[in-house]
Amino acid sequence: MKTMNRIYLSSPHMSDEGYEMEYVKEAFDTNWIAPLGMNVNGFEKELALKVGTKAAAALSSGTAALHLALKAAGVGAGDIVFCQSLTFSATANPIIYQNAIPVFIDSDYETWNMCPEALEEAFIKYPEVKAVIVVHLYGLSADLDRIMGICKRYNVTLIEDAAESLGTTYKGKQTGTFGDYGIYSFNGNKIITTSGGGMLISNDEERIAKARFWAMQSRDPAPHYQHSELGYNYRMSNVVAGIGRGQLKVLDQRVEKKRAIFEFYQQELSHLEGLSFMPTNEWNRPNYWLSTLTLKGKVQPIDVMNALETENIESRPIWKPMHKQPYFERYDFVGSNVSERLFETGVCLPSDTKVKDEELGRVVKIIRGLWK
Ligand SMILES: *Cc1c(COP(=O)(O)O)cnc(C)c1O
Repeated sequence: MKTMNRIYLSSPHMSDEGYEMEYVKEAFDTNWIAPLGMNVNGFEKELALKVGTKAAAALSSGTAALHLALKAAGVGAGDIVFCQSLTFSATANPIIYQNAIPVFIDSDYETWNMCPEALEEAFIKYPEVKAVIVVHLYGLSADLDRIMGICKRYNVTLIEDAAESLGTTYKGKQTGTFGDYGIYSFNGNKIITTSGGGMLISNDEERIAKARFWAMQSRDPAPHYQHSELGYNYRMSNVVAGIGRGQLKVLDQRVEKKRAIFEFYQQELSHLEGLSFMPTNEWNRPNYWLSTLTLKGKVQPIDVMNALETENIESRPIWKPMHKQPYFERYDFVGSNVSERLFETGVCLPSDTKVKDEELGRVVKIIRGLWK
């Protein structure tokens, strides 16, 4: 069995049509490898059009995009930022890069994302807060109307970490476009990938122009190298952007496949005692980046993960909340134990769009076997 091909959680999947190579080849043919050029501009325009935003800045990573979103929001040393606790560390790290102070917010069971009640409570405790970072975990959208309502009432900047949710809509509109700023990631494991990269989006074209300026070492317009602000080397290269333009063409296909994977798991596993799938509801149209479930019964997440790994199949626990991480536990947390419970009971199943039906069948059979 060990010799069988590994089944992955989520791995890069280039288009069958070879769209990516066409754009990359164009960059090579014109010798326009770096730094900027047609693919970077094209990728920004095409992505902005796809999601429905006015402006986008192509950057070297989703983390860089979050960093510049915080900077654009005016977050600096000593400022407080509310941050969803149940997430990948890349959501929280840029708060520290800005020497700001994270306060972690719990999730709710309805969305797995930021709990509006906990957010309200945090605003009462820290009325001086400068920005809020909400995450759309595993492609599930947060309850944006409620989160936005609270942020508007307090007049505080909302940043959406949509790294995992490109293609997800909330009440018909793309996640990432609701907040003052949104970010996407094109890291290797995301729904579309450029090998590595990110995008910062906003309807505020001036702030996006400023972010591009920071991302290119803050070079003032002068014949010599002149800098009146701190700069970063965060811009996406023209080759990488070519991959992104090609991948964007197959985003809808990838969402369809991810949905089919989730529906298959649902159909085959829902009856198992103590097993529940990630929450979906009428206002959320997820991209199903990863199919995830929770287990509350005799079969534990570790049993599922071990059984799959024995058959060379990748699976993983749900993100460990930031307020439980050794590095971040010194910071305050508002909420109860929802994110912690999700971490303890959750499993991410293989959701690779290259997976074959026969392979999905094997995954399901192994999991079912644990209930026998
Ligand atoms: C992947 C990811 C990021 C970071 O994106 P990179 O492009 O890897 O820097 C940020 N937030 C979340 C929730 C992610 O999953």
